[in-house]
Amino acid sequence: MQFIDQSVIEVEAGKGGDGIVAFRREKYVPAGGPSGGNGGRGGSVIFVAVENLQTLLDFRYNHLFKAENGARGGPNNCTGAGGKDLIVEVPCGTAIYDASTGALLGDLVEPGKPFLVAEGGKGGLGNQHFLSNRNRAPEYSLPGLPGEMKVLRLELKLLAEVGIIGLPNAGKSTLISSLSAARPKIADYPFTTLIPNLGVVRKPSGDGTVFADIPGLIAGAAHGAGLGHDFLRHIERTRVLLHLIDATSEDVVGDYNTIKQELQAYGRGLAQRPQILALNKIDAVDQELVDLAALATQLHHLSQAPVFIISAVTRNGLEPMLQEIWQILDEINVVEQAEMIG
Ligand code: GDP
Ligand code: MG
Repeated sequence: MQFIDQSVIEVEAGKGGDGIVAFRREKYVPAGGPSGGNGGRGGSVIFVAVENLQTLLDFRYNHLFKAENGARGGPNNCTGAGGKDLIVEVPCGTAIYDASTGALLGDLVEPGKPFLVAEGGKGGLGNQHFLSNRNRAPEYSLPGLPGEMKVLRLELKLLAEVGIIGLPNAGKSTLISSLSAARPKIADYPFTTLIPNLGVVRKPSGDGTVFADIPGLIAGAAHGAGLGHDFLRHIERTRVLLHLIDATSEDVVGDYNTIKQELQAYGRGLAQRPQILALNKIDAVDQELVDLAALATQLHHLSQAPVFIISAVTRNGLEPMLQEIWQILDEINVVEQAEMIG
């Protein structure tokens, strides 16, 4: 199974500058020679893979990528300035397809390596270029050529970094909707009844992180009872688990334990994953009857995990919870990088 983010964009390289017709006009020279310069080359559109992007979130809002045109030639045989190339950063692993033919143009795996997707147009020749013995005063020049234009489909396989777990009705889907900046596509998922719910949440750094709802954690999923075992395998690769608990439940602690036992039964290190607890639906709790702070403390003692008090519906408390998630992810990154260097 794969989570796939994709986006269709248009790239347009710059047009080459026009060549011009000009003649030297110098004092005491009655008929100067041709001196019209060539146009500058149009800028190209170049993609480069970078390590600090994980999703195609930015391409949802921005669809046209256009490089600068080349400048016209000048008099005195001056070649016009070239248009600036447009460098577009994409996450490592982005595949680039020609949207009209479906052909794979490139697979950007290696960070920092430039990949030319649309070449800038050549500048037109100025009239000085056409000077010959037969024509001492050419009156013509050539226009710049258009830059390449393409419609591209970008595709990226996503890895869910944050897994949301909890009993049915804890509010997992609602939370993903509240947090999401985008909903990526899920491809190749064989279980029609158990489509995982995914959302890309924008980080303060501007990039996105994938949150995935883990629907199969109940009902014997641990034993692989046909319940999206593939999906669980994918979830094994999440870095943080966000455990949602319905604060309006009669037995908050019992609900927590049920999921905890599922995690342990599933094994493979899932229960040892860094975890955050969130008591959800606090907007629906009568706080005169339920002591949320006491419940949070109790859950914290049981889990040794940070506990947040939130409402997925009113969005109350979501910000500090996200801060904690970003911090945990950052710490994991630092450790991983240290391990790579060491
Ligand atoms: P899931 O099964 O964990 O995905 O739970 P859903 O997101 O489908 O939510 C189950 C029900 O709880 C829905 O009726 C939601 O509207 C409701 N719900 C979820 N979050 C909140 C919340 O923060 N406050 C209130 N009052 N209701 C919520
Ligand atoms: Mg749901």
